[in-house]
Amino acid sequence: MTAVPRPQAALLDRDGTIIVDHHYLNDPANVELLPGVAEAIGRLAAAGIPSIVCTNQSGVARGTITLAQHHAVRLRLDALLAAEGVALLDTFACPHHPDVTGPCGCRKPALGLYERAASLHGLDLARCLYAGDRYRDVAAATAFRGRGLFVESRVSVAEDRARAVAEGMSAVPSLLHGVQALLLTLAA
Ligand SMILES: [Mg+2]
Ligand SMILES: [Zn+2]
Repeated sequence: MTAVPRPQAALLDRDGTIIVDHHYLNDPANVELLPGVAEAIGRLAAAGIPSIVCTNQSGVARGTITLAQHHAVRLRLDALLAAEGVALLDTFACPHHPDVTGPCGCRKPALGLYERAASLHGLDLARCLYAGDRYRDVAAATAFRGRGLFVESRVSVAEDRARAVAEGMSAVPSLLHGVQALLLTLAA
């Protein structure tokens, strides 16, 4: 097995990757961590890799999620992770939708959320890990020549998975599976 450099950060999709994908989640009571996610984030942290969420939240543009609800969901997620002894370094969200607010530079697969994360946290985006359950969540791995992890969820689609795999990414049944495999490959 070839040893690879340690990623500077794990840039994680939220819905379907770390929490259950409830369409247009606007109630903090419905935030549910997916199995193994807290352990995955903890293992990354132990390896010196902080986790940052980058999430499309077009429900804000559509009016199905208020900014206050979006914030409450974020706080609930932070609390659930804290109860497991882990934390996110930061969260970046795109509140836009092209049909409502016009084109933006941050709705994934656009790269604006990652660029914001990189400038705030001093990241080299070529040395980051990108994980998500749709192709648009891992497209940045190809754009920046980083590492991509396609995490299969109930809303993942086969063509997204196939495209990610064709571009050299791993497809895994959970974030924890992907993180365990990644950590085995890291240079000592
Ligand atoms: Mg997702
Ligand atoms: Zn946006």
